[in-house]
Amino acid sequence: MINMSKYDSIQTYKIRRLLSDLGSKQGRGTELISLYIPPKKPIYDVINNLRDEAGTASNIKSDTTRNHVLDALTRVTQRLKLYKNPPENGLVIFCGALPVSGPNTETIQIYEIMPPKPINTYLYRCDDHFHLDLLRETLKEEEIIGIISIDTSEAALGELVGSNLQVIEILTSGIAGKHRQGGQSARRFERLRENEVNGFFVRVAEHAQKAFIEERNVKKLLLGGPGPTKDDFYKGNYLDYRLQKAIVSIIDTSYTGEEGIREIVQKAGSTLQDIRLVQEDNLIDKFISEASKDYGLATYGLQNVIDAINNNSADTIIISEDLGMLHLTFVCRKCGNIVEKFIKKTDVFAVKAEQLSAPCSNCNSKDWDVKEEDVVDYLTDKASVVGTKVEIVSGKSEHGQMFKSFGGIGAILRFRS
Ligand SMILES: [Zn+2]
Repeated sequence: MINMSKYDSIQTYKIRRLLSDLGSKQGRGTELISLYIPPKKPIYDVINNLRDEAGTASNIKSDTTRNHVLDALTRVTQRLKLYKNPPENGLVIFCGALPVSGPNTETIQIYEIMPPKPINTYLYRCDDHFHLDLLRETLKEEEIIGIISIDTSEAALGELVGSNLQVIEILTSGIAGKHRQGGQSARRFERLRENEVNGFFVRVAEHAQKAFIEERNVKKLLLGGPGPTKDDFYKGNYLDYRLQKAIVSIIDTSYTGEEGIREIVQKAGSTLQDIRLVQEDNLIDKFISEASKDYGLATYGLQNVIDAINNNSADTIIISEDLGMLHLTFVCRKCGNIVEKFIKKTDVFAVKAEQLSAPCSNCNSKDWDVKEEDVVDYLTDKASVVGTKVEIVSGKSEHGQMFKSFGGIGAILRFRS
């Protein structure tokens, strides 16, 4: 089975989405509350603090702003009373009066988030925007893996952070091939070449020091390349001692340069089992190999995946972070008739407008209630009922892009139905 431990891709997806939603919200006045509670902070301390803040807020001159702030503080306090202690990683709450549909439609809304990493500082802010940076910090991947691909013609430096692989720079050596020109003695040619190779190794080590120590905090390094050059580079101790110590694997590849970097990551295997990119690549490989067999244990496309959840044959659902689809539910206010639609996020206004002006097929009324939700939420809720796993995968990685050619949604099946 593929190990996807230690990383909750749905939680990360939801927090990213919330950050992007809340990032654009503005209060009418200074009335949006951001509250960060570290795991060890006693809840009664926080509640006392909010009581003091309410005292200060009662002096606000604008009626609307004052009422909004006091209402928001009441809502937050009510929520906090449901906790004995903060959750394991602490708690983040955003609360304030936000417009529901256009100006003067503000209602108090509250967002409660359990962060993926512990919150270290207590923070209360009342401002005209939400303070999102501390939450954003908790999403950052800490571990940066450095990669050096080297042979005598060129070297490439790369970095792998979570599911993001990037080439930092490519250095060419300018060293001529192995064959000497006529008239040169073999010995002299060898010595010149050795000098050139030595000079190139020194240059690569300098660039590595700059990229991996000065500009980044690399704690793990992969070294690779075709032929014996990488071993000479390793044995010669050219790298800064910290980088030399950080080498976790030396990998033989067929390619150099950018392709070499990708190949090193692919071949690093067990060394990188905890790295998200490798887990996603393995999952997508498994999906594609099943999807390309006749009667393989995979299916794709939204309707097929929903069917697989419904008949309990889906083991793991895979969704591209770029899927960008919504589930709309229209309920007739008169007779309760329900119309469901799955649509692209970009079509939401047009589809809503069309359905809201269409008569109910049952009673001819044009009075609809409408509810919209991200397809990721819709599927996650359905999946959790039957114990199906859901993994959100990168839309940018090479495998992630291959997966998008299947429509960005698929499932690995337990059995075929
Ligand atoms: Zn109806």
